[in-house]
Amino acid sequence: MTKLDFVLVILVLTNMFLTVVLLYRFLRKSPRKKPVFISLLSVFFLSVLILYPYRHRIRKRVNNVAQHMPFRLFKNHHCNCERSSLPRDDYRTKHRPMAIRATGNGYIKTAGILNKFLRRKKLVEVRENDGYWIPYLTHSSRHLTPTANKRLLELGQRFRSSLKETENKTDYFVVSSITRTQDQQKDLAKRDPGATKDKSTHSFGVSFDISEVRSKASCKKGMDALKKILLEMREEGKILLCPENDCVHVTVIR
Ligand SMILES: [Zn+2]
Repeated sequence: MTKLDFVLVILVLTNMFLTVVLLYRFLRKSPRKKPVFISLLSVFFLSVLILYPYRHRIRKRVNNVAQHMPFRLFKNHHCNCERSSLPRDDYRTKHRPMAIRATGNGYIKTAGILNKFLRRKKLVEVRENDGYWIPYLTHSSRHLTPTANKRLLELGQRFRSSLKETENKTDYFVVSSITRTQDQQKDLAKRDPGATKDKSTHSFGVSFDISEVRSKASCKKGMDALKKILLEMREEGKILLCPENDCVHVTVIR
């Protein structure tokens, strides 16, 4: 539980408690409603005041929970990445050798090595930014090498600025998988026969997967914009691409 979660829970519980007390007093026609009403109003406004700076994080958190529900809370259109519409750089002869070269063979075999790389700043924490969203990750963690993190930021920024002043200006893409230790990779390969059983480039901290584009307008436009930027960055020699069944695998090379 983060500090924000803790504050959120306390505020929601206080609001709920005061609402229940107020309702009870209304039902019992108790004359002492006013002080409760004033407290409820004060706590409510205090909550808004405290949580306002965190509104984007809260919305994303709620969205994260909502995606596991059978109904959708927010009306977002989403386009999945199609397999055939991007060029494929060969995984064995390009992605993996490049990942080894780019990191000086920095293979993240265990969680211990991941932590060591974090301490040595060979890996950094990936934070959400304009243009992309990271859901709860089951088989990977939010870490990348500083260069790969910089390219993800660049991808998000270029994606957003290409949609500036259009109805797609708030579109974002979903980063569905990031860095995996060898154990996480093995676990994934058991569940997903398509996942590599060998050393994955995800275990070097230079790869991430993009699964879809979400949009309030037409996600086709957003997806086309994303493909265009991915192709540009590939042309610039910054990334390699490998379209997979339901995502695009990106390896950062410089
Ligand atoms: Zn991948």
